[in-house]
Amino acid sequence: MGKVYPCLEADLSKLIHNVKEIVSICNKNNIKVTAVTKVFCAYRPIVESILQGGVSELADSRILNLKKMEDLNCKKTLLRIPMVSECYEVVRYSDMSLNSEIDTIKKLSMAAVELNKVHDILLMVDIGDLREGVLVEDAIDTVRQIITLDNINLVGLGTNVTCYGGLIPDTENLGKLIRLKHDIKNIFNLDLSIISGGNSSSLYMVINDTIPKEVNNLRIGESIVLGVETAYGELIPNCYKDAFILKSEIIELKYKPSVPNGNIGLNSFGEKPQFEDKGIRKRAIVALGKQDVRMEGLKPLDENISIFGASSDHLILDVTDSKEDLKIGDIVEFKLSYGTLLSAMTSPYIEKSYKNEEVYNYI
Ligand SMILES: *Cc1c(COP(=O)(O)O)cnc(C)c1O
Repeated sequence: MGKVYPCLEADLSKLIHNVKEIVSICNKNNIKVTAVTKVFCAYRPIVESILQGGVSELADSRILNLKKMEDLNCKKTLLRIPMVSECYEVVRYSDMSLNSEIDTIKKLSMAAVELNKVHDILLMVDIGDLREGVLVEDAIDTVRQIITLDNINLVGLGTNVTCYGGLIPDTENLGKLIRLKHDIKNIFNLDLSIISGGNSSSLYMVINDTIPKEVNNLRIGESIVLGVETAYGELIPNCYKDAFILKSEIIELKYKPSVPNGNIGLNSFGEKPQFEDKGIRKRAIVALGKQDVRMEGLKPLDENISIFGASSDHLILDVTDSKEDLKIGDIVEFKLSYGTLLSAMTSPYIEKSYKNEEVYNYI
């Protein structure tokens, strides 16, 4: 059997390169990188490439993915606030979890006692993005309760921004986290060893040297896979933006008008389509649709190809201006945004393949 399409191809040597660059930028600022594996569902060749790139800590939002990495001898963190119903698995499959609810931490404590393990807690503080985290004014009281619990070790504070509210991290909002660290030291004589200052949106502060010196950890996913920081969407120096490529196959190639002929009703998704009359165009249909992957965020690598639209199983492209001599059966390649990459990774209809697989020899 030949290659299977549509397929998502991960270039492992580009990924290793991105990890090395990001780790090096962060290490210069005494920041440890925790690599986030959720966007690629902890697929093994990618996880191993990332470890090869020089990180020693992994994090995922799902137990299912942490289970896949059970045999790997490195620190593992659960990123999403645990469900009470999964506390036992949390303690079993992760060394640390991000938390904001004392009732859940109590359940983690019970599970840890039962499993005879010590579980580390990173207390999440909401510094304004309004996703997870205790409010700053409630943090001290929460700490007071956490430190009484058996087999629970409060190791640090963390925050997550630019996810729900789009809040950009800066010295002022990250400063709230640092003031809390000092308060906790003064009140409880407890020296927290981890200040986790966010995700890929905090990298710009590392690059321009404004990240507070107390921040010593970042949890990085998107920057590794797409080579960009996510506060302003700028390329990280020396990183690849195209480590992941989606490939699809042309199943029809014809010259057709750009406006349908007759009365226009609703399309297959119940929307009233709009058309711009560009005259007769050379149109390619590739075997890829809304059922396979999120369409917004797909960008043809060939800049002379544009997207007309898509239905469940068909993506219609305007290839009139392409310099390539396209034929039926040819492959059209796309770059992907974060959301689209996520949807391709979790899609059972998209084959996963790897390029430069020989470059990693992690054991
Ligand atoms: C997904 C996630 C990250 C990683 O975010 P990126 O933007 O991909 O770097 C970090 N922390 C938490 C809590 C997350 O859920």
